Amino acid sequence: MKKYIIIFCIFSGFLYGSVLNYELYKKENSDGNTLLVIGGIHGDEPGGYFAPSVLVQNYTIKKGSLWIVPNLNFDSIVRTRRGIYGDMNRKFNSVKKSDKDYNTIQSIKKTILDKKVNLILNLHDGRGFYRHKWESSIFNPGAWGQAFIIDQTKLHKDIKFSNLDEIARKVSEDLNSDLVENHHSFNIKNTKTKEKDEQMQLSLTYFAITNNKPAFAVETSKNITELVKKVKYQLKAIESFMRIMNIEYERDFDLDNLDELSNILKKYKKVKINDRITLDLETIKSTNYYFPLKIDDNNFKFEHPLGAIVKYKGNYNFMIGNKRVGTLIPQYFEYCDSKEDIAIVIDNKKQIAQFGDIIEVEKNFKIEASDNFRVNVIGFSQDNIENENNLLISQNKILNRFAVDKEQKSFRVEFYDNSNKFCGMIIIKFK
Ligand SMILES: [Zn+2]
Repeated sequence: MKKYIIIFCIFSGFLYGSVLNYELYKKENSDGNTLLVIGGIHGDEPGGYFAPSVLVQNYTIKKGSLWIVPNLNFDSIVRTRRGIYGDMNRKFNSVKKSDKDYNTIQSIKKTILDKKVNLILNLHDGRGFYRHKWESSIFNPGAWGQAFIIDQTKLHKDIKFSNLDEIARKVSEDLNSDLVENHHSFNIKNTKTKEKDEQMQLSLTYFAITNNKPAFAVETSKNITELVKKVKYQLKAIESFMRIMNIEYERDFDLDNLDELSNILKKYKKVKINDRITLDLETIKSTNYYFPLKIDDNNFKFEHPLGAIVKYKGNYNFMIGNKRVGTLIPQYFEYCDSKEDIAIVIDNKKQIAQFGDIIEVEKNFKIEASDNFRVNVIGFSQDNIENENNLLISQNKILNRFAVDKEQKSFRVEFYDNSNKFCGMIIIKFK
């Protein structure tokens, strides 16, 4: 039996200009071709970044390699703007050192030129529906949506996948055989960049092909309003390219089932804060108040590849791509160093928990922490009691409005030391 080495690694950009750095995920085997998928060069084109986030999370590569950047222009994605520092896709010919995109451009160029990379896809949501002949203001040759964009028919050097037009033709035939609606059909737009299109000479794909790297832009349409349909088309296109490149993949869902894909897109997963708090972003309520954070250097670790914090007017917005999924209004604390285990009696059974745990409870719980801590169950109060350690508490003793989640089932248990430093949080989730 042939063995494949599967490497899964993440490279952070180590950039200084932009605030948020993109990430490169590598799903690799020891042999075969490598496809580089770049998403999110334009922050207002969600099909172009949610599709690669599904690739990262829900695909396994069995043969060949898939490299994925889901969030190239991350600062613009979290603000749903095309490019907050200007159009990133016009900076590949030259970019000033003072440009905030400078480091992003330099580092993605290096990846594009990596000798392992055989083909590059740059994902977009374009305007309208591209047609070879003018049909209407939405369906016409000036539109970009539902198209594979090539800069020229083929590369001049005889390398693998140099026949851009032929490959784009195969992929679009593949997609057109299975459309959600007939007018979603894909066409090939050849911008004939060298002769005709000075703007496109500054683009990522033109940089790639002039360096003998086959590259395509995949455009779904901004006029298709449902994200799930755009993501489906993007993924179908990427899969078609993978088949042409003999890259073998598996995914853990049915791509023809829009409801299933739609549920995947809503899985925002969890965030870990300062290694002491975990919040479930799928159920989090819109705003949580008096949330214990540090005045600076807070560390947020998202499970979702498009997860980021955007600070706005002193509040902390949790973003998944361009979607705000929750906000924390902070109350600033110094953090203590202690990280000792906490004993909790859950439904009459004692167990050991750590800060950052989310614990399911049927009926009631009792914290049995050491005397080093003052325990505060947010939303619970009993006269003359400061420390809510060693009290048996059921859900009806806690005010629902203090829940952290929309369903009002999850509550904060906070631990402070004797000098009122915050030590950690455990979430109690009633079933
Ligand atoms: Zn675009």
